[in-house]
Amino acid sequence: MRVAIIGGGILGAATARLITSQIPGAEVQVFEKEPDLARHQTSHSSGVVHAGLYYTPGSLKARLCVRGMSLLRDFCRAHSIRYDACGKLVIATEVGEMPRFEALEQRARANGVPGLRRLDGSELRSVEPHAQGLAALHSPATAIVDFAEVARAMAADATAAGASIHLGREVARVDGGRGAARIELVDGGGAGADRVIVCAGLHADRLARRSGQPAEPRIVPFRGEYWQLRPERSELVRGLIYPVPDPALPFLGIHLTRTINGSVMIGPSAILGGAREGYRRGSFVARDVWDAVAWPGAPRLFRRHWRAGLGEIVRAASKRAFIREAQRYVPELEPDDTVRAVAGIRAQTVDRDGSLVDDFRLASNGPVLWVRNAPSPAATSSLAIAEELVERAGLS
Ligand SMILES: Cc1cc2nc3c(=O)[nH]c(=O)nc-3n(C[C@H](O)[C@H](O)[C@H](O)COP(=O)(O)OP(=O)(O)OC[C@H]3O[C@@H](n4cnc5c(N)ncnc54)[C@H](O)[C@@H]3O)c2cc1C
Repeated sequence: MRVAIIGGGILGAATARLITSQIPGAEVQVFEKEPDLARHQTSHSSGVVHAGLYYTPGSLKARLCVRGMSLLRDFCRAHSIRYDACGKLVIATEVGEMPRFEALEQRARANGVPGLRRLDGSELRSVEPHAQGLAALHSPATAIVDFAEVARAMAADATAAGASIHLGREVARVDGGRGAARIELVDGGGAGADRVIVCAGLHADRLARRSGQPAEPRIVPFRGEYWQLRPERSELVRGLIYPVPDPALPFLGIHLTRTINGSVMIGPSAILGGAREGYRRGSFVARDVWDAVAWPGAPRLFRRHWRAGLGEIVRAASKRAFIREAQRYVPELEPDDTVRAVAGIRAQTVDRDGSLVDDFRLASNGPVLWVRNAPSPAATSSLAIAEELVERAGLS
């Protein structure tokens, strides 16, 4: 069985590893356009291993996040990868947030989030001494990790078990015939495969379109900017502090997250990105912006969420406004305590009617399986998503 995987992010790496370890005789090839693995979303995330608080019970996200977390913890243990269950607080600061907070608690319990506790304003300070709020949900199992390190370890397992990883090889299109598929590379090469699994992240829609698949749903890149606490102020945050999210949006709001390297990040914002892969401020690729704004779903999305969008633009323009958001939870925090950190860009899928696709979305045509939407918590869920992909591709 010849299996080709497109994309060397955490999903491609997890899938290659699973296939090489489970299917005797499988010939696995991974095609990644960059000169190394995990260059995009996988290495530009908050690094949080989510415990499953937020997701609609019964959704792919809910199921695969809870399973993915436990698989990831075991994987990190077996590979001596640093994994810190530092715990997380979701804090309500205003009475008006309490109905959403209570709905979140019910959802978290329905999803089986391990060890979940509800804390009052004074109890939450025993977890995060510099935080304040009316009430908090404490998820002690929520953890931090370096997802790029995890992806490289998964890829190393796959290579050791016989997979070939082709770096710097961009796939131009995939033809899914009846029995087998053919991959054409931008450099003129090609490869045949019995199954193809496409995990192309920010380019999932373009590659699908070039391969004759529906242009819908479209990826709209959302830029997430972060600030970082100066090292001498990093004691302000022990673990992870999150707001109560707006259930109408798939983003979790500005949070304070300790990373596995000890730094504390504040962010991310969520504004329309000027480039799918431009991480520097002001990065602009006309085609990327045109593809986003010319999509009929985009104006509908902006009309529907104009108020939240305006808030994001203000925070992107003003450090004070950005930090003010975090001061709701950690009032001692001052703008001068922070320096700018590297941004990330989310591959957020938008339907034609302007709705932000919340759940993971997979689609198949013949021997080709497409990952069309894999936003957060896809890194947490990667090993469980790989199981799902292997099953849907008829490989298990
Ligand atoms: C700001 C931000 C914060 C996040 N925080 C979290 C978090 O805390 N926890 C969590 O679980 N998730 C988080 N996520 C989500 C998580 O990072 C992604 O869901 C996950 O990394 C998706 O993995 P991937 O392999 O699909 O994508 P990617 O890592 O983007 O990999 C896709 C790969 O495909 C390659 N590729 C694309 N097109 C082609 C082509 N034509 N030919 C060959 N190769 C191609 C790309 O170069 C890339 O390497 C966050 C994401 C962002 C952006």
